[in-house]
Amino acid sequence: MNNEELWQATLAELEVLVSKANFITWFQNTSITAQQNGMVVLNVPNAFAKEWLECKYHKFILKALRSLSPEVRNVEYIISSQTQPLLQKNKFTQVMIPHEEQLEFKEFLIDRETNLNPRYTFDSFVVGPFNELAHAAALAVSKNPGVAYNPLFIYGGVGLGKTHLLEAVGNEIKKINSKLKVRYISSERFTNELISSIQNNETSFFKEKYRSYDCLILDDVQFIAGKIKTQEEFFHIFNALYESGKQVVFSSDKPPHAIPELEERLRSRFAGGVITDIGQPEYESRLAILKSKAEGKENYVNMEILEFIALNIQKNIRELEGALNAVIAKVKMTGKIPSSGEVKEILMKIMQPRRIVTANQIIKSVAEFYDLDEKILYEKTRKKEVVKPRQVAMYLLREDFNGSYPYIGRSFGGRDHTTAIHAYEKISKELKNSVQFMEEIRRIRELYNYKT
Ligand code: ADP
Ligand code: MG
Repeated sequence: MNNEELWQATLAELEVLVSKANFITWFQNTSITAQQNGMVVLNVPNAFAKEWLECKYHKFILKALRSLSPEVRNVEYIISSQTQPLLQKNKFTQVMIPHEEQLEFKEFLIDRETNLNPRYTFDSFVVGPFNELAHAAALAVSKNPGVAYNPLFIYGGVGLGKTHLLEAVGNEIKKINSKLKVRYISSERFTNELISSIQNNETSFFKEKYRSYDCLILDDVQFIAGKIKTQEEFFHIFNALYESGKQVVFSSDKPPHAIPELEERLRSRFAGGVITDIGQPEYESRLAILKSKAEGKENYVNMEILEFIALNIQKNIRELEGALNAVIAKVKMTGKIPSSGEVKEILMKIMQPRRIVTANQIIKSVAEFYDLDEKILYEKTRKKEVVKPRQVAMYLLREDFNGSYPYIGRSFGGRDHTTAIHAYEKISKELKNSVQFMEEIRRIRELYNYKT
């Protein structure tokens, strides 16, 4: 049998052994490129497929091949440059120029005229149930600015893709018709520009400028709440644009009716078009986003790591990206793919608080979480239900408060510093072995991170 015939026959055998979804996912775009001395060389499209086939399906593949061609002794998987030219290119540039440098450079390619970041496009935007309505509205607006939905108001929590989607609208409008004048601006910068135009007696110039756009995109509009002068100017600019059929797009962290100190007339203007939200991405969407972000970085991460991150980082997409980048940075440093325990550690660091906390807040949160009286944590009791929370508190004091071991020991009823070290090590170890425990710690941290 030639390569093609052998592989087609093998695939037919394999197809009945694995689920349809898996078959399509992992065996698409595979082929035999060579057979020599019992060695079959299999072309696979990317590093994910390579790893998956090697780890999960190797036995099946080998068995199926042998049943058709008994002289086959082993299989080698190579990533095909034909189906995946990008991967080869990345391999090369990775040696020549560190990947981040390239990325960072691109980040600075903000268009001077539109103030848009070319990175934020519809192409790079993953759509899932959590954002599909916002995406559909944004797409409709790009195809038909000033007509479809005006204004378009997109709201949602931090790091969920509002800016990305808003800028995608701007980039798409420019792509379809480069003559249209588009301007993206954060509300904060808009406000600052306005203030300085007032100081320099240039308000008419300011207004003229903003009224000249075919599409004005104002990000984080909640920022202008409470700023009377800004709201007033903005109201007039908005009306002028709206009345001449120009598109206006807003984002905000809340829906208009929930933004405090927003002028009533602005509120009703916002509500005059279409209001749509972006929610929390569910697991499948998080994984899809990670996969898309990991494209071209297959040398650094595998499917298992992506699944692990998607499972554990749930808050927002920025954090997902942060986690992925942290893992990649680690791989670059150590030169090897981290074990799941090591990934856990990296994620723990990411999920650490950004706010400065006091020792007291930490201890209070631990007590609250385990439903204990705070006082009992300081007592000498060795009751099981107290020992563990106390150790958790010690661990968190070390990790998030940077307490010295003697200090931590002393804080809990004059214990020795070795007790604190022991607690810290015990909890660290346990965290490496249990995703559930990790989740527990994350929730405790949430208590003191988000409480003021
Ligand atoms: P927000 O403005 O809501 O705080 P951003 O638009 O800045 O959030 O998104 C945070 C990061 O997550 C950005 O790097 C963005 O590219 C990425 N991101 C958000 N949503 C998506 C998505 N649906 N697909 C791909 N990347 C996304
Ligand atoms: Mg934003």
